[in-house]
Amino acid sequence: MKNQEDKFKKVISHAKEYGYIFQSSEIYDGLSAVYDYAQNGVELKNNIRNYWWKAMVQMNENIVGLDAAIFMHPTTWKASGHVDAFNDPLIDNKDSKKRYRADVLIEDYAEKLNLKAKKEIAKAAKRFGEAFNEEEFIRTNPRVIKYFGKRDEVLKRMAKSLENEDLADVKDLIIELEIACPESGSKNWTDVKQFNLMFGTKLGASADSAIDLFLRPETAQGIFVNFANVQKTGRMKIPFGIAQTGKAFRNEIVARQFIFRMREFEQMEMQFFVRPGEELKWYEHWKEKRLKWHLSLGLGKDKYRFHDHDKLAHYANAAADIEFEFPFGFKELEGIHSRTDFDLKAHEEHSGKKLQFFDHEVNKSYVPYVVETSIGLDRMFLAIFSTSLQNETLEDGSERTVLRLPSVLAPTKAAILPLIKKDGLPEISRKIMDELKYDFNVIYDEKDAIGRRYRRQDAVGTPFCITVDHKTKEDNTVTIRFRDSMKQERVEISTLKSLINKEVSIANWFQDI
Ligand code: ATP
Repeated sequence: MKNQEDKFKKVISHAKEYGYIFQSSEIYDGLSAVYDYAQNGVELKNNIRNYWWKAMVQMNENIVGLDAAIFMHPTTWKASGHVDAFNDPLIDNKDSKKRYRADVLIEDYAEKLNLKAKKEIAKAAKRFGEAFNEEEFIRTNPRVIKYFGKRDEVLKRMAKSLENEDLADVKDLIIELEIACPESGSKNWTDVKQFNLMFGTKLGASADSAIDLFLRPETAQGIFVNFANVQKTGRMKIPFGIAQTGKAFRNEIVARQFIFRMREFEQMEMQFFVRPGEELKWYEHWKEKRLKWHLSLGLGKDKYRFHDHDKLAHYANAAADIEFEFPFGFKELEGIHSRTDFDLKAHEEHSGKKLQFFDHEVNKSYVPYVVETSIGLDRMFLAIFSTSLQNETLEDGSERTVLRLPSVLAPTKAAILPLIKKDGLPEISRKIMDELKYDFNVIYDEKDAIGRRYRRQDAVGTPFCITVDHKTKEDNTVTIRFRDSMKQERVEISTLKSLINKEVSIANWFQDI
């Protein structure tokens, strides 16, 4: 455990030291669970996004892209269920680890009292027959008075506590009523927490006319509301997909794991629209495809595992996570969900617009079913960065820190290094830079001894170092040094472009997907 923590601390400090990730507004002591991507971080992040985008949109002729706005009509979030589902007072049972809506536990209790009273009334009605006066019985029977009285008192107290946001009293009520966990029978409860995950904001200039909006907690709804527009204008036929990357916002309650759980983060999502009844076939297809995409990066097969959900969200009929072994253990990296027709149907109901597809093959219209793949870009960044960061002991006993990023994703592909700062070597190096920079991100570095410059590039993850020395002036060759093996080769300047391209071109990395 200690080892894991140390490793994770190293990841965080390395990300800062080498210009990958900074705490947001650090000069003001930062903002919790919000981060900025620095000069190298932004390149790595762009490259990961691009690697995903090309695999989804460019490689699949039936998948197209979209970039929907972060602000959406507020009814979107009613239809999606976020307005109701993200506002619940939740309570955990410490023994069963089951989570419940505190208000539902109390309502269930009240309903039991209700049933007991109703039973008394039914019994009396049978006994008294024709002569039974229900109203009078309810007013005078001590047991019925007790049950109904208690029921009303409980519900009233709960309503008042929730209204006052007095969550401590909601818990007290659960304890006083001796409500037990339906699963385990245990009465060992945590505190009640209000999990309001959506950030609210206002749209409009004046206070009177402003409307309440939410910052989107997921990008998926931007795709659902554009389903018909994309389908018609793109003349898309089912099955087809819409892919999108973009910011999402969640007011996370537990947000302590660096960029694993952020309050502002980026998602890469693809919604695949299919014929009803075929969703499980496509669900299996996307599970397999997405895992292959991950494996193509070469971080190691044993770093990934599937976690099939036993308990499904109300909208899903199958769901699995691709979990990754982060420095703090296996955790969700990507979700693959068979969402049925829940979202499109809900948007049809709330908007009054048809969100259907006329399928010529079966000669009828239907609301398509959806299989989605949803991955956090920042989590993917953390997966790659933390796995790539390695400490090695070399043959001579010295240590080196190397960031073995997949070269296709590395922020800088090559560093051009004149051996010394004179004798025309900087000029030749600049010329090489100018030749390569149209195709690759390259940098120039002439400061410090060559060994130190190599180590600096190892730590920042640059796959190639190209050294220009006196021999270059004679025969137009340079030394190319490989980050991972530290091997060096003498090559012609004219071969550099194809040599680097062979290593970093997406075509090579996509071969097994
Ligand atoms: P978790 O259970 O970890 O909260 P989730 O099941 O709520 O995640 P989804 O709603 O399925 O996540 O979102 C899809 C993906 O978005 C996740 O697999 C994850 O990679 C990413 N993601 C979700 N919440 C965050 C966050 N707060 N910070 C960074 N990435 C996130």
